[in-house]
Amino acid sequence: MPELPEVETVRRGLQPVLEGARIARVEARRPDLRFPFPEKFLERLTGKTITALGRRAKYLTMHLKGGPVLICHLGMSGSFRIETSDDSEMPDSSEMLGAFFHERSKSAVHDHVVFHIVSPEGARSRVTFNDPRRFGFMLFSEGAPDTHPMLAGLGVEPTGNALDGELLASLLKGRKSPLKAALLDQRLIAGLGNIYVSEALWRAGLSPLREAGTIANPGKKAKQQRDALAEAIRAVIADAIAAGGSSLRDYMQTDGSLGYFQHSFAVYDREGEPCSKHGCGGHIERIVQSGRSTFYCRTCQLS
Ligand SMILES: [Zn+2]
Repeated sequence: MPELPEVETVRRGLQPVLEGARIARVEARRPDLRFPFPEKFLERLTGKTITALGRRAKYLTMHLKGGPVLICHLGMSGSFRIETSDDSEMPDSSEMLGAFFHERSKSAVHDHVVFHIVSPEGARSRVTFNDPRRFGFMLFSEGAPDTHPMLAGLGVEPTGNALDGELLASLLKGRKSPLKAALLDQRLIAGLGNIYVSEALWRAGLSPLREAGTIANPGKKAKQQRDALAEAIRAVIADAIAAGGSSLRDYMQTDGSLGYFQHSFAVYDREGEPCSKHGCGGHIERIVQSGRSTFYCRTCQLS
């Protein structure tokens, strides 16, 4: 499942092609994805200029001039593919552009939505949404995306300096759930997923089993811990975005090499391996919390 850094990577890949460009035509090759396409889906997109391509948590937001905002979610296996041509003749796949795309996006059977795009300079591109498992979706928001019911309740973004120790303390204060579960709660922090929570807790040296609210305790120690945790959350997300998003078997680079990111997680999917924290000597364990795998080192994630 794509996590926030992958979605941000997709956004950055699409942005140069979409922003400022016009949607000449749209094809929807089936009536639905996870949800039916909204009413007048094609009509409301056709001819519109895309003013901005944003992101909120794991939602992409395509802002249309004088029209609705198209909210896109990649679901479990969704991806976009960009093909660009100088003339109206579309190239074959060997001429694909776009740094990242889903391995299975090569199968045209799963090409569900095709945007025919014309740049302000007249260059034509085809942007295809491919989704084998069809958990992705596209919906319209009539107002600002944050007012849409899907996005209205989302918590703070795990990127940027807004997420600091004090904000974490205010979010987690009084919560009895394990720290791992609280950090996965999208109403508190939006877009932080299973992989990066495990990574952040390891970096901060905190136990995933700890009661979440204790991070807001008075005293120097808890303050250091929540500052370290906020820093670790921002850093794991920033590092992953910088590296072009984690790939986890699903996202591939155009040269076909499988995502490098699966080799660079410190704890995720590393059960039984030695902990890589200097001088630790412990091993990574896998436990299950709320039905999800948690990877951690009980030797250095004590507190
Ligand atoms: Zn360790």
